[in-house]
Amino acid sequence: MENKENQKSISRRNFLKTSVVLGGVASLAAVTGKAFASSAVAQGFSTKEKFDTIIANGMVYTGEIKAPVKADIGIRNGKITAIAKLGKNCDNWVDATDRVVCPGFIDIHGHTDTNLLEAPLGDSKIHQGITTDIGGNCGYSPFPFSDEEYERRKNTLRFGYPFWQNIDGFYDALRKNTIGINYGSYVGHGDIRHIVVGDNDVAATPEQLKMMCKILDKQLEMGAVGLSFGLEYTPGSYGRTEEFIALLKVVAKHDALYAIHMRNEDDRVEEAIAEAIELARRSGARLEISHLKAQNQNNWHKVPSMLKLIHDAEKSGMDIHFDRYPYTAFSTGLDCFIPLAQRQGSSKEILARLENPTTEKIIREYALGRVKRLGGPECILIAACFAPGNEKYTGKYLNECCKISGKDEWETIKYLLQSEKLNVNMAGFAMKEDNLRTLLNDPLAMVITDGSVYSPKGRLGQEAPHPRSYGSFTNYIGKYVRDQKFCDLQTAISKCTSVPAHQLKLKDRGLLKEGYCADVLVINYDTIADVATYGQPHQFSKGIDHVFVNGVHTLKNGEYTGCKLSGMII
Ligand SMILES: [Zn+2]
Repeated sequence: MENKENQKSISRRNFLKTSVVLGGVASLAAVTGKAFASSAVAQGFSTKEKFDTIIANGMVYTGEIKAPVKADIGIRNGKITAIAKLGKNCDNWVDATDRVVCPGFIDIHGHTDTNLLEAPLGDSKIHQGITTDIGGNCGYSPFPFSDEEYERRKNTLRFGYPFWQNIDGFYDALRKNTIGINYGSYVGHGDIRHIVVGDNDVAATPEQLKMMCKILDKQLEMGAVGLSFGLEYTPGSYGRTEEFIALLKVVAKHDALYAIHMRNEDDRVEEAIAEAIELARRSGARLEISHLKAQNQNNWHKVPSMLKLIHDAEKSGMDIHFDRYPYTAFSTGLDCFIPLAQRQGSSKEILARLENPTTEKIIREYALGRVKRLGGPECILIAACFAPGNEKYTGKYLNECCKISGKDEWETIKYLLQSEKLNVNMAGFAMKEDNLRTLLNDPLAMVITDGSVYSPKGRLGQEAPHPRSYGSFTNYIGKYVRDQKFCDLQTAISKCTSVPAHQLKLKDRGLLKEGYCADVLVINYDTIADVATYGQPHQFSKGIDHVFVNGVHTLKNGEYTGCKLSGMII
């Protein structure tokens, strides 16, 4: 299955011919050679105006669902100041002939978090065209901390910066470090529950609930984009409905976003969607369902009914969207084979349950059942091991790991969990390609990475992330839009730019428009491709020729220019 993912059909094609199909009148003008002569071509001359940069002669996709126009983009002081025929009066003239020019991609569901302090350029993301990254998803964010913990650690450093308690301190560290892409974050419900209620399966008391709402309100005041839930994870899963609604009313008050990694994504996925919608309905919060999928073969038929639930909610007037990464394998920790009830408490307590014959039996039965539902051990890839001697398991499927270890499936899983102290990354090939098309083509869908910033260099280069961290957007545009023709290019680009910008209420990003921040891509549509694989994920995408972040030329011919990093906190 890894090989299946690796197959890239980078067929050469005539860009102009392609854009006739996709683009209508403007492209016809290009084909006939009458550049700038068609009515669809941008009008106006501003040659007297001096620009910092002119991106010339590209096919301009504005981020809206409309035909592209051939035009120049003028950038000054970090903003787009003209879209027209502009001449050459500038410091930096970039030839975009035969190239797609579009807004920088916005990844509304990422897990970058503190990785941006280690790889400040945003390496794996900027090379796939992402200029705005949103972290803190699935219930986890690198803040807030309790007053006690903050008191204890306030004189220590975290990634070289003063230990922070709240989102403002985290944002300060990013600003001081400087970042190559724009960044924003949700606050994770799991972190708030952890510091107020703890990690066990108990209801919050009224006082605790009040405290949770107060902490949430503070993070939103300080600029969090919303609240994220991770109801498949602890301790978020231990929250009660009334707790969720009370918190979401705070989110609604700020007109922020409510993102949810649902309680279930397989056998009870429809019930989980209904729960997510009900929480939005009762709180008034705007809903973004995270990485929507029907996992495991026995659930693949559910996608139409899942979409019906979502569209019925939308028709009833609810603000609801969903997102999805363009791959058929999910990525998680191998500890997902331990049932939630056995995952309470510290790592030490959880590991002890693997030793206790009574709890070990419960965990084994659950794990083997889950392996079977996923499609068997050949559908489970061990993506990263760290303990000495375990390198041989990295990049191998569970059936291969069993051969290496000489143990059965359960004993191999148990060995890996114990020797790695629960910290094992895995990929599960449990989704269907046809469903990916249906989901991504839905008008309410957005494209995401569900991944972090990585870099081939340094500590992060030693990890084994899902390839989506390097290639979601290039995979979507290259493999699914160009090769498999999921939809036309302007629609695809809108799902990566203006739709997430609208959900995030970004007033000046997500479109190529005068006055907007100059987050701009120049793409080679013939060659754009994700080349990262499950076995070798640390590979930059192809076809992202130029990236401008707030007007600064950050990638040139696919390489970092060495510029001062210009990303902003959004
Ligand atoms: Zn998630």
